[in-house]
Amino acid sequence: MTGITTIGFDADDTLWHCEQVFKDTQDWLIDLLADYVEGDHLSERLLEAERRNINHYGYGAKSFTFSMMETAMDVTSDRVPASVLRQIMEAGREMLSHPVHLLPQVEKTVKGLSLDYKIILITKGDLFDQERKLAQSGLGDYFDAVEIVSEKETDTYRTVFSRHGNGAARSVMVGNSLKSDIVPAIRAGSWGIYVPHDVTWELEYAEAPTDADRFRTVPNLADAAEFIRSLP
Ligand SMILES: [Mg+2]
Repeated sequence: MTGITTIGFDADDTLWHCEQVFKDTQDWLIDLLADYVEGDHLSERLLEAERRNINHYGYGAKSFTFSMMETAMDVTSDRVPASVLRQIMEAGREMLSHPVHLLPQVEKTVKGLSLDYKIILITKGDLFDQERKLAQSGLGDYFDAVEIVSEKETDTYRTVFSRHGNGAARSVMVGNSLKSDIVPAIRAGSWGIYVPHDVTWELEYAEAPTDADRFRTVPNLADAAEFIRSLP
């Protein structure tokens, strides 16, 4: 037996909406600080803060909250009132209780595939928040394993697909981030099925590995399932 046995799914913006909540919160921050700074400049500074802070706080809403607060202090030369910082903290907390909205066809597709394959959720982000979102999604029972990791690198996929499956070569990774889900999974020896989402965080950008044999782009999760089932 040499066929595909295992499917890894990214979570944020592959199974459920996520980035839009960050974008909406960023737009709110631009309005909040409009007296101090132009929107474009704020977005640039915020992105710089996010990039720096990943190394300290990892991914997710908590890290983003620190980045918003730091940016507010930076762009006001530390003159930002404490009441504004408090509003930012509250906005961050709201993100952590934002309801989970599944993308179209997700439940049916994941359920169907779980009958014939080992299904693994592979996500980075804040442990607490990702556990909450998985619980709220109602998808928890379909997954044979859940891996919440600090970074998604080639070794991550090698390890996870060996631990829970039959190795990377007999696995498929499905996700919306070329940088985190697709490129490293293909490097590990898996298939990488790219399902683009209309909003993607700038720090998740990477060139599509168009010359890799095990790379496909599909418009949605149902098409991803159909393609996976066609694999020998
Ligand atoms: Mg994602």
